[in-house]
Amino acid sequence: DKKVLASSAKDLSPAYDWFQTDSLITIVIYTKQKDMNADLVIVDCQDKQLRGEIIMDDHSYLIEVDLDHAVSEDVAVNIAEKVGKVEIILNKKDKVHWKMLGQPCEGHNTFIKRTDRGLFYRKCKLISKTEVTYDTKLFCLMLPKGTHLRVPTGQHVYLKHIIAGTEVVKPYTPVLPFLPLDFQEPPCHDGVHIYLMIKIYSDGLFTQALDHLQIGDYISVSNPEGNFKKSQVQTSEDLLLLAGGTGFTPMVKLLNFALTEVSCLRTVKLIFFNKTEHDILWRNQLEQLALKDERFEVQFVLSQPSKDWVGKQGKISLSLLSEFVKRTRRDSKVLICICGPVPFTEQGVQYLKDLGYSQEEIHAFTA
Ligand code: FAD
Ligand code: NAD
Repeated sequence: DKKVLASSAKDLSPAYDWFQTDSLITIVIYTKQKDMNADLVIVDCQDKQLRGEIIMDDHSYLIEVDLDHAVSEDVAVNIAEKVGKVEIILNKKDKVHWKMLGQPCEGHNTFIKRTDRGLFYRKCKLISKTEVTYDTKLFCLMLPKGTHLRVPTGQHVYLKHIIAGTEVVKPYTPVLPFLPLDFQEPPCHDGVHIYLMIKIYSDGLFTQALDHLQIGDYISVSNPEGNFKKSQVQTSEDLLLLAGGTGFTPMVKLLNFALTEVSCLRTVKLIFFNKTEHDILWRNQLEQLALKDERFEVQFVLSQPSKDWVGKQGKISLSLLSEFVKRTRRDSKVLICICGPVPFTEQGVQYLKDLGYSQEEIHAFTA
């Protein structure tokens, strides 16, 4: 019995092979998993270092070698989704015959728990910084040429920077460059740029350093992380998004994904909590979207409104949620996502439970 177990565990682990022509090196990874997709494959090729990571549920398979010879910067990644085959194609710099793929690095050809695999960072160039509000900016970063990485909906990355001689790491959730109004078009994933909407705190350690970066400077960006699963939204009919301040960031891709790709979706309601009107991120875009798409509705709630604010006021509360969080039908499949300051999220989840929503119907975005 032991033998059978051992061999079946081995059979589950991906395997790789490589071959060459005069000008190309092709590495083939057989994941043995039927539903592979580009979100699950992360490739970095810089100088002679090649790193390819495949995410398979809570496991990670890694290829990491110090290549035998130099390759050019352009790397192609082909994924045969249904058969679970991933091809990484490198261009040889010189037309020489390679005796081996390269020297394996620590962790090469291992299949381990994702949480046991350290985060990998690559340096990205700051392309632009645009004002969103008086204290929040949209940063556009460019991945290096040899990197293939897509940040899945609901996941975040870590930025790493050395501040006063110390490495500092903070999580941020990539957004889209804007909210697409025409949902007929596929979302703008060019695979090269990462957009981050970041609030700059006047006494913030990391955000002050970020704000001081110049266009053309570099910052390290990690692989994506997070426990949100797209499948949670795929079957929902009513989607409710509760956001506090920059807790809006995970809602951007989520909103776009739901409105473009979830066929059973009937309504999406965003309840957006901010201090003042000046703090509302992408207010105009959200209002435009609500006009354009009848499934979408947005409600702004201010905790420190000015005298002339005629909208909703206050912080997250049981009465506010009981007014706004409702199923469109008695048996609607509902998903409620919540993100914001820790006390906001914690109180929100408690109120939702008090209102009778189950654990499975609530997703809280946390670190
Ligand atoms: P800090 O130096 O840590 O302090 C920032 C401000 O908060 C200061 O005013 C400080 O006084 C105050 N502060 C610090 N700690 C606390 C505390 N425990 N309670 C109350 N106040 C406190 N931010 C974004 O802008 N955009 C994003 O997309 C984004 N995504 C995130 C994703 C995840 C998963 C998580 C956990 C956080 C995310 N954040 C995001 C927040 C971000 O990681 C940083 O916390 C934030 O940028 C502040 O960093 P800082 O070093 O500048 O501030
Ligand atoms: P903020 O201070 O401007 O507050 C926005 C709103 O949140 C307030 O108007 C209020 O309605 C509510 N709020 C704030 N503090 C509260 C409290 N103690 N109790 C109840 N409600 C409260 O928010 P900000 O400066 O934009 O901060 C956003 C927060 O969201 C940060 O803490 C950030 O770490 C977090 N965030 C988390 C993730 C994630 O976990 N994935 C992603 C993005 C942002």
